[in-house]
Amino acid sequence: MPSLRDILDARVVEADPALWETIDKGSSASGKTEKDSTENARIRCYACGHRCPIAEGQRGVCKVRFNRGGKLYVPYGYVAGVQCDPIEKKPFFHAVPGALAYSFGMLGCDLHCSYCQNWVTSQALRDPEAVSPPLEADPAQLVKDALAQGARVVVSTYNEPLITSEWAVAVFREARAAGLMTAYVSNGNGTPQVLEYLRPWIGLYKVDLKSFDDRHYRQLGGRIEPILESIRALHGMGIWLEIVTLLIPGFNDSDEELRRLTEFVASVSVDIPWHVTAFHQDYKMTSPADTRPEDLVRAAHIGRDAGLRYVYAGNLPGRVKGLENTHCYQCGAMLIRRVGYWIEEYKLAPSGACPECGAMIPGRWSRQFDGQIAAAPFLPRSRSRLVRILERQ
Ligand code: SF4
Repeated sequence: MPSLRDILDARVVEADPALWETIDKGSSASGKTEKDSTENARIRCYACGHRCPIAEGQRGVCKVRFNRGGKLYVPYGYVAGVQCDPIEKKPFFHAVPGALAYSFGMLGCDLHCSYCQNWVTSQALRDPEAVSPPLEADPAQLVKDALAQGARVVVSTYNEPLITSEWAVAVFREARAAGLMTAYVSNGNGTPQVLEYLRPWIGLYKVDLKSFDDRHYRQLGGRIEPILESIRALHGMGIWLEIVTLLIPGFNDSDEELRRLTEFVASVSVDIPWHVTAFHQDYKMTSPADTRPEDLVRAAHIGRDAGLRYVYAGNLPGRVKGLENTHCYQCGAMLIRRVGYWIEEYKLAPSGACPECGAMIPGRWSRQFDGQIAAAPFLPRSRSRLVRILERQ
């Protein structure tokens, strides 16, 4: 039986030329350097902030992009899972509230967070216990399925979407043609090249800003600087951006770190929504206690003090003193009332303005609230039509 790696290596295409380059042309088998030869070439990938140099036959840090014959090959033609989520779960609170987000993911990640809540897909090629059989898919089929479920947004999520950007763009092209919005749920470890590549095809972007300490990021396998640069760049490009921080007791929850983190977000824009969400024990991080409601409320106050206008506390519905709701930054009127992913009340004007004082609330709003298809995730009925590749071998 073929290994998961063999199966995935058969489902690849050449990377988009915008996302890699040759950095050393190598030499021919005779040992002489040949100008036009790609044999033994070293290449560099720009799909994420690692910017891996990759020798012939080798893989990048993510394990899913590799150099074969001097060309970069990247994942294509499968999903590790699809799910219909309320958009509030991503979380996006300032983009078409109540909409259904058709969410798909592949396998692999450029980081290795010990508390990952999607570790079965993200660590599939690193951790033998992470087993998530891929399903054969094509972009048109996924978008047709999204429309059939009533989705308004198609989201690349569950694994790190930056490392599988060619596939995401293929799906997003179809989604845009069908009138759907498109989104990334990402760790934000991008490069200028990958953000420019995505720019024409993506409307919403959620960055998981995990810490404001470079030492913590290095523990997770990354660096903070590419993430901060990506946040600035995404906002500058006009892509709708929301930021989430999973609050982990003893890891990233000191007042000092939260103050610096939220001051950074406010320095980019006070209008960027910041979600602080509760950690629960998962994967290899089982020692910190679960986050308490009062921890979220404390963090939210720090964000407000930093000047952020839209601060939300998540994962503990009904226990965070109204911090799930959207209020007008100017007059304080309650505009969207939520419990968990459920919209209880929606008062925003069709223009996206506060009906009390007329202040514009930033976001990607509908003309009106059309109700919710679901306030909890569910599997699309047609998922069974996707072919389970492992079973077919
Ligand atoms: S996506 Fe990131 S980790 Fe993967 S090969 Fe490219 S630069 Fe390296």
